[in-house]
Amino acid sequence: MRDHTFNYHVSEVQISMYDYDFSFYTFFIPDVRLVERFKDGGSVLIAEGYMWEFERRGYLKAGGFIPEVVLDHPDMVRAMHEEFVHSGTDVVEAFTYYGHREKLRLIGREDDLEKLNRVALKIAKEVADKHGLLMAGGICNTGIYNPDDPASFDTVKNMFKEQIEWAIEEGADFMIGETFNDFGEAMLALEAIQKYGNGVPAVITLTPYIPDVTTDDIPFPEACRRLEEAGAAVVGLNCGRGPATMLPLLKEIRKVCKGPIAALPVPFRCRDDCRTFQSLKDPDSGVPLYPVDLSCVQCNRSDIKKFSQECKDIGINYVGICCGNCPIFMRELAEVYGRKPEACKYSPDISLSFIFGESSKEEKYSRSSKIRDFMVKGN
Ligand SMILES: [Zn+2]
Repeated sequence: MRDHTFNYHVSEVQISMYDYDFSFYTFFIPDVRLVERFKDGGSVLIAEGYMWEFERRGYLKAGGFIPEVVLDHPDMVRAMHEEFVHSGTDVVEAFTYYGHREKLRLIGREDDLEKLNRVALKIAKEVADKHGLLMAGGICNTGIYNPDDPASFDTVKNMFKEQIEWAIEEGADFMIGETFNDFGEAMLALEAIQKYGNGVPAVITLTPYIPDVTTDDIPFPEACRRLEEAGAAVVGLNCGRGPATMLPLLKEIRKVCKGPIAALPVPFRCRDDCRTFQSLKDPDSGVPLYPVDLSCVQCNRSDIKKFSQECKDIGINYVGICCGNCPIFMRELAEVYGRKPEACKYSPDISLSFIFGESSKEEKYSRSSKIRDFMVKGN
C-alpha cells in the first residue's frame, strides 16, 4: 500500500484496501494500524503544535499553555484538525497536551479535567474517522516528576493512568508520550501505556535541551535505545530544538535504534550557540525571544523543505513539526515524503504571476519589468 493512501477520500481508501493483504486488519486492530505503516519503508506524518498555534490565534494563554480552548471553543479545535488533515497529517492527535491534572489545578479547573480530555478525544476521533486517519491520545511531562523524590512517581503514574484510560475508551489507535526531559518520566509514561493502554502502541519522545543529555543525565541516543528496548513502537525527539540543531542528534539516534524514529522539531532557526528555541535571541537587539516574540527567527518554508528532505534521507519515518507548526509547513513535509494532500492543489505556481512569472512576458503586462525593478531593488 502506498503510504499516502490515507490522505485521499474514503472511496480511494476503500479501493486500496483490496490490493493489500492485511488491509482489513489495518482498519480494525489498533497496534497493526500504526505499526503496519512502517512496512516497506513507509512513514507516518504527524501535525503537532496545536498549543502554539492556538496561542498565536488568541485562544490560549502563554505561560500556562493549557488547552482550555477545547471546552471554550471546541469548533476551533475541530477546524484546526481539519486544516492539518487538508495539509497532509496521517494522525489526528487529540488536543490534550497539558490537559493533565496538574495544569488544570493551576487554573482552578480540575473539575473539568475528564470533560476536557473526553471532548478533545471525541473531536479528534470524529475527524480521524471522517478521513480514514489514525487518532492518537497523548500524555506529556507533568512538571512534578522528581527523580530524587520517589513519592512523586505515584502521582505521575496516576496522572498518566487516567488520561490513558480515557483515550482508550474514546478509541485512540495509539498513545503518544511526549516532550519528556527526564528519561525516568518517559519510562514511567511507557510503562503506564503498556499497563493501561489495552495493547495500543506507544510513541515516546524526549525533548532535547542543552547539552545533549536528558535532565537525568542520559545521552539521548542511549535514552531512545532503552525506550525502544523496553517496548516503545516509535522513539525520538519532539520540541525544544529547531531543525538545524535536532538533526545531528537524530543521526546519532538513528545509528543505535532499530525501529521507527520520531522527529518533531520546532520551526525556528536554532543554531549551535542557541540550540533551543527557548535560548534564541533577537538578531537585531539581542533580547531573548521566548515565548511570544519568536516570529522574527521562524523557519521559512524552504527551511522546512530542506529539513524534511534530510529526515527522509537519514531514514526518519515518523515526522512532524511541533510548536510553531502551521498547515503550510505540513504541506512542505508531505510533498517531500511523496504525499499529495488536498492542500497541494494550492501549492505555489509563480509562473502564473504577471510580475514574476512567465505571464510577465506577455505584451499586455509590458510594465511588469519596471514594476518588478521597483519592488525588488531595495534602496
Ligand atoms: Zn513543542
